[in-house]
Amino acid sequence: KTLLQFKNVSKHYDKKTVALSDVSFSVNEGELVSIIGPSGAGKSTLLRCINRLIDATSGEIIFEDKDVLQIKNKSKMRALRTKIGMIFQNYNLVERLSVFENVLHGRLGYKSALVGALGFYSEEEKQQAIKILQSLGLDEQIYKRCDQLSGGQKQRVGIARALIQEPRVLLADEPIASLDPSSSKVIMDQLKKICSTLGITVLVNLHQLDVALNYSDRVIGISKGRVVYDGDPASLTDDH
Ligand code: ADP
Ligand code: ADP
Repeated sequence: KTLLQFKNVSKHYDKKTVALSDVSFSVNEGELVSIIGPSGAGKSTLLRCINRLIDATSGEIIFEDKDVLQIKNKSKMRALRTKIGMIFQNYNLVERLSVFENVLHGRLGYKSALVGALGFYSEEEKQQAIKILQSLGLDEQIYKRCDQLSGGQKQRVGIARALIQEPRVLLADEPIASLDPSSSKVIMDQLKKICSTLGITVLVNLHQLDVALNYSDRVIGISKGRVVYDGDPASLTDDH
């Protein structure tokens, strides 16, 4: 079943910078899709158009049968962003706060930085945060400050913060680009597990072809803002 569809999506930052050009593809529910391409190809722009961190210039992005580009109302926008979790290359954690606080504040999404006290959250919400952190192997880190963690641990906190919203889709923007090979494997294994056990659809930007081939159900290749490959990883060769 199709969950997400790009129809002729373009993004022009200005007259000269065309980041996406007539991009069309669709993603089925429960798929793990890698988006690969060199730096500057448009991968990050593509993901950010889905949750409206960036506004596409033209086209349609159909999610759950509605065009997300038509959303104007603030509460509908918040609902969209709750269904679409995101993780980042640089983690985007509040470094001086604990792991626990970062994850709980993920419930509030964009307002997170405005909230101080943990008393704001119910016992049930706290238990859920702990459960998610344990499932990511972070039992020992729950009450540590984020600035005490390794990169791989920080990225797992980022995943936990996204998962507490119970999203339908997880967007991962170069999640392993700052990590060493062993932490990268841990993160990719977690993304795969989230997809197969929770049924969350995952779109992951990567620049490593070998990782994409290993982990994804499908690969979309982007070059200069255009889709140059869309298919099975097994039939993808180095000449793309
Ligand atoms: P990738 O994620 O594949 O590295 P990006 O989506 O970040 O690619 O960038 C695609 C193109 O858009 C690049 O030419 C980049 O310089 C440009 N670009 C990205 N963000 C902006 C911005 N905020 N303003 C202007 N140009 C941008
Ligand atoms: P990068 O350096 O990876 O491009 P930025 O720090 O510039 O990322 O953040 C990009 C955008 O993502 C900003 O508009 C920021 O407000 C937003 N953002 C930060 N944290 C989150 C989050 N947890 N969920 C969704 N969007 C976020």
